[in-house]
Parts: sequence; C-alpha cells; structure tokens
Amino acid sequence: MLYGWELITEKEKKLISEGIRCGEALGGPWHMVLFPTDRCNIDCFFCYTETLRNLAKELDWELLRPALLEGVDMGVKSVSFGGGGEPLIYRSLGPLFDLIEEKKLKVDSIKTNGTALTESVARRLIGSGLSRITISLNDTRPEEYEKICRASPRLFEKAMGGIHNIVEAKRKAGSDCEISVQVFVWRENYKRLPRMIEDLLPTDADFIYVNSIDGLDPKLKMTGSQKEEFRKILVPVIEEHARRIQFNLAAEGLHRFAIEEQYKHYPRAIELPGICKTPHRVEFCYMGWYTAVIEAGGDLFPCCHFTTDPSKSLGNLHSSSLKEIWQGEPMRRFRGEMRHLLLTDADPGLLPRHPRFIFPLCMERTACAFNYYLCDPAFYMDLYNWAKKNGGSYRAIRKLKSLPIRAARKIKRFLSSRNRI
Ligand code: SF4
Ligand code: SF4
Repeated sequence: MLYGWELITEKEKKLISEGIRCGEALGGPWHMVLFPTDRCNIDCFFCYTETLRNLAKELDWELLRPALLEGVDMGVKSVSFGGGGEPLIYRSLGPLFDLIEEKKLKVDSIKTNGTALTESVARRLIGSGLSRITISLNDTRPEEYEKICRASPRLFEKAMGGIHNIVEAKRKAGSDCEISVQVFVWRENYKRLPRMIEDLLPTDADFIYVNSIDGLDPKLKMTGSQKEEFRKILVPVIEEHARRIQFNLAAEGLHRFAIEEQYKHYPRAIELPGICKTPHRVEFCYMGWYTAVIEAGGDLFPCCHFTTDPSKSLGNLHSSSLKEIWQGEPMRRFRGEMRHLLLTDADPGLLPRHPRFIFPLCMERTACAFNYYLCDPAFYMDLYNWAKKNGGSYRAIRKLKSLPIRAARKIKRFLSSRNRI
C-alpha cells in the first residue's frame, strides 16, 4: 500500500471505486504529492532534472497554503514529498510542517538527499507517521561523493548525519518507518559494492537500495566484461545480505539477474499482492481518482512520471483552484484513458487514437509500481471483477467504432504500396 491508503475508510473506498466505474471523481483527492522546490544544494552529474533545477522554481507559500487547505477540505489525509529538487531545502518548510501538524496530515513518504535532514526535521517527519524514506547518498566515501554529487565532503557528512538522525528519530518514537539508503552502481564504482554495503550496515537503515543510473551516457555504462565481473561480485553479496538489499539494476541490464539471485535466498523480496497470480492484467492505476501531484511551478500532474513534460499538465494553481483542476477537462480525459486501460485489459490494439497520457509505463503490469501496489488486494479484486464483467461489451463497441479507421488505414497502405510499384 502506498500514499496513505491505510487511512482511507470503507465509505471513501466505495466513492473511489464508483468513480472509476462511471469515469468521474466522486470525491478526493485523498493524497497530495508535493514537489515544493526545483532547487538543489548538490549537483549530481546524472541528475535528470538538471533543466528544471536551472530554472530553480519554487512553490510560493501563498499559493501552496490555500491549495493544501482546499485539499484538506476535499479529503486529503496524507502528503508525500519528492521533486525536481531537494524538498527539504524548501524555503517555507517550517510553515509547511506547521500546517501538516495542525491539520494532522500524515507524511507518507519522502525522497531526499539527506543533507538537510536535521534532528528536528527527522523528528517532525517521523511524528507525522512517515511510512518510508529514501535517502540518496549515491556513494559511501566522501571523495567519491564529491565526484558524483559535485558537492563538498561537508555535505557528505551532513547526509550521513541525516541518516543517523532519521534512524534515531525512528528508534525513539518506536516507529515502523522503512528507511532506505540509495547508492548508485556504475562502471566507475561497481567493484566497491561490497565495501559500500559494509559502510552502510552500521547505520541501521532498513534497506540498502542498489540502483543503476537511468539515462547514463552509453560510454559510461558497464561493458560486457565488466557486467560479467559484476555478476560475480553480486552473487555472494546477495547471498549474505538478501534481506537488507533492494535493487534496480535495469539501466545496466542486470535487474533480472539480481532479482532472481535474491529470490533464491529471500523469496519475499519480490512478493506482489496476492491478486497477481493470473497472467492477465489484474491491476490498475487509479491515481486520477486518488492523488494530485503539484510541482514547483504550480502545475498539477497525474503522477510523478509526467512532471518533466509540461504538455501533460492538468492545470496550474496560478490560474485555477485545486477543485477546478480536479474536476476539469484534462483530468477527466486522464481518467477516461486509465479507465479505458482497465476495461480493455491494456490491449495495445485497442488504444485510443490520440492518447494524451497513456505511455508505455502505464501499459505493463509490473513496469509502474502504481499499477499494482497502490491499494489493497480486495480493492483491486473488486475492480478486476467489475472490469471482467463489463470489459467484453466495452471492447466490442471499441472494435466496432475503430472498424472504419482500420479499414481506412488498410486502404491507405494498399494505395501507397501500389504507388511504389
Ligand atoms: S540530489 Fe536529486 S535533485 Fe539534487 S542533484 Fe542529485 S539527483 Fe538531482
Ligand atoms: S500507470 Fe501511468 S499514470 Fe499511473 S502512475 Fe504509472 S506512469 Fe503514472
């Protein structure tokens, strides 16, 4: 369960579920994801938000405060933090935390570089009921950190201090917050993975998240022989620490290998909710009925994956209220596309002609965690059964409607092949 789903009552679940069936939002949003600032105090060489960071936008507190209050009136119970930049250096962090406490909102999750995770911030986050935190340390040695994050060793010390602060706050409060520390492996440091893990074990973080770098220049990726060497390094590391490691080695093409190795020693590491037993798509993304992502420029997006593409904005808080955007036309279109995926079993042959929001990540069962891991199995199952019952007639209508288009395409292909002759 993600994004504060555990706080949703049965009555609210019913509203969400009925909304999905009829394609409208009958309540909500119930959760807000905040990207409060695009500024960052370090400069990782691989950062995909560099363009955003250069613009250094930040949510004006006078804009965010009323939007949050409006959200609370509409149903928001929890928030998460992420961003184009480092959320904990947001200039109005103090007032934001005050409001979160005043309205008794849960901070569900946060991604941070840890450098501003002071004792007091850690205490406030844990006090709000934090469920998970990922601290991107990137490397465990100051000199390597300096190279990767292009930041001074002083900030490395601060990030290590941040890990200590959150672990301590968790311990003192008896919280069950899941703390992950992320390190990156790439061709320059993969040999040091065992060392990095040894460095991090004493921090008492729950997980060490071993990640590869997306969008890395191919020249900086591991070569075939380096990958072979890395596999040999991974085997004993996984055997020894299977329960403490999380992986995403997809960018180096080693994810499957790592997960299969881990599965041998700790099958629960890849356990999905019980509903995922059939080969069919039995999950569904219901972000459009549940949550709103607000980025530093005031744009509202369906999910974090869309925030670097302004064409996917659903509206902007500078010109519309949260309620207007939530009930507005782009949001309805997004819901329509997601509902379509549910009813067509995400059949690529039945995609709408010009989908604006559906993209490859939305189509595959395990590609996006929000497809299968957002709520609870009973809720998914209920929707699955509904889609199974109603999907047949929906698909038949879609096929009928697309007949003239498909016929036109065939004729066009035929004519162009004749022209070539
Ligand atoms: S900490 Fe995150 S936002 Fe900041 S530079 Fe690194 S990757 Fe980018
Ligand atoms: S399935 Fe698509 S819309 Fe939903 S969270 Fe994933 S990427 Fe976003």
